Amino acid sequence: MARIIVVGAGIIGLSVARSAALRGHDVTLLDRDDVPSRHAASFDQHRMIRPHYGAAQGYARMVVEAFPSWERLWRDLGVRHFVDSGAIAISTEPGDYADQTETVFRRLRIPYSAVTGAALEELCSHLTLPRGSRGIVAHPAGPLFADRIVTDLARLCAAKGVRILPHTSAVAVEEGGTVQTATGERLVGDLVVVSVGAWLPALAPNRYGQLPTWRQAVCYVEPPERHRVLWQSAPALVTVGNWSGYTLPPLSGTGLKFGYGGHRRHATPQAGFDWDIAEGQQVIDAFRPILRDADDYVPLRMQVGYYVMNDQRRFVIEKSGRCLFVTNCDGQMFKFGPLVGEKVLATFAGEMSPAELARWASGRQYEMRPAE
Ligand SMILES: Cc1cc2nc3c(=O)[nH]c(=O)nc-3n(C[C@H](O)[C@H](O)[C@H](O)COP(=O)(O)OP(=O)(O)OC[C@H]3O[C@@H](n4cnc5c(N)ncnc54)[C@H](O)[C@@H]3O)c2cc1C
Repeated sequence: MARIIVVGAGIIGLSVARSAALRGHDVTLLDRDDVPSRHAASFDQHRMIRPHYGAAQGYARMVVEAFPSWERLWRDLGVRHFVDSGAIAISTEPGDYADQTETVFRRLRIPYSAVTGAALEELCSHLTLPRGSRGIVAHPAGPLFADRIVTDLARLCAAKGVRILPHTSAVAVEEGGTVQTATGERLVGDLVVVSVGAWLPALAPNRYGQLPTWRQAVCYVEPPERHRVLWQSAPALVTVGNWSGYTLPPLSGTGLKFGYGGHRRHATPQAGFDWDIAEGQQVIDAFRPILRDADDYVPLRMQVGYYVMNDQRRFVIEKSGRCLFVTNCDGQMFKFGPLVGEKVLATFAGEMSPAELARWASGRQYEMRPAE
């Protein structure tokens, strides 16, 4: 039995703690806030899982790998916090995101259906799409109910014997495997996993001080009555053309949510989590190019989160001494949480090397062309 310390209890930290407990280790999980924290990137009504990844073949393949890992979590939790609404990316011109997705689906033999013409108009009558649009629909895909997942994961970890320390900030992490806390405790581990999301530059400024962090705020909206039923039955929208908006359907008691990539801005979590409803109207306005009856949508509330993202858009899992740093989680990592937990513990057990883990996380493991 090894001593494993996990710093940060978002989806990554909780998933690592669960996998470590399942392998019989002595696990301590600390977070600066409540566990789970309402301010973690992992905390919101839903996060989308979908195999649509444009040309990023490695991540499309990893989504296929992620689903069995979620199934193992549902079995442990005794509840399934996911609805297979399907997801649709809509191509409006050759070479756009959905078009590249379709090429990757064909190459990887990921099942999908292409919806065009009257069938697409019927499926998306709440949207205004350019003539000739082509919808790429895949299952399974849809909303993972994120806040329910992290809440139940925390309960599961506690039941499996994980020592959970809420309101315990790490102030320093040393390569030898020690974690200093703000309360003066010194924790020692055979493995220290650091999964503090957008707080990493503050915790490890020498190593990660330059990482770009972003504030993103998504908007819960009230649709007009005439489109309500359609939003409930439509697949989650990944994107239209190369425009960066997406939607999550109002299922299982959750709200209809709009997110727009262009709305994020550089900031650190120290800037806080405030929002006002005018910001919600900005998100709805960003949807005007594709939204039928846009004037009739009402912003209800925002959810603010922070993450690390750079131009490469690849996850980073780096080993340094006894520490493993998980970063660059982007607006993309939730869907891979339980799988990352399993891979980290497989690496600790020697079933894969830290270099293989890093390569897998970067998406490069599955990027070879079929001929290679
Ligand atoms: C608005 C938004 C939309 C997104 N949409 C999607 C999506 O549709 N699909 C998807 O797959 N992903 C999505 N993501 C990305 C995904 O949510 C994140 O990549 C993922 O949740 C990151 O998890 P994490 O555990 O690394 O970090 P976090 O969830 O941020 O958790 C970090 C934890 O570390 C704690 N912490 C910080 N500093 C310290 C310290 N010094 N000591 C102790 N604890 C500390 C924090 O309190 C926090 O609880 C989205 C993210 C946002 C913000």
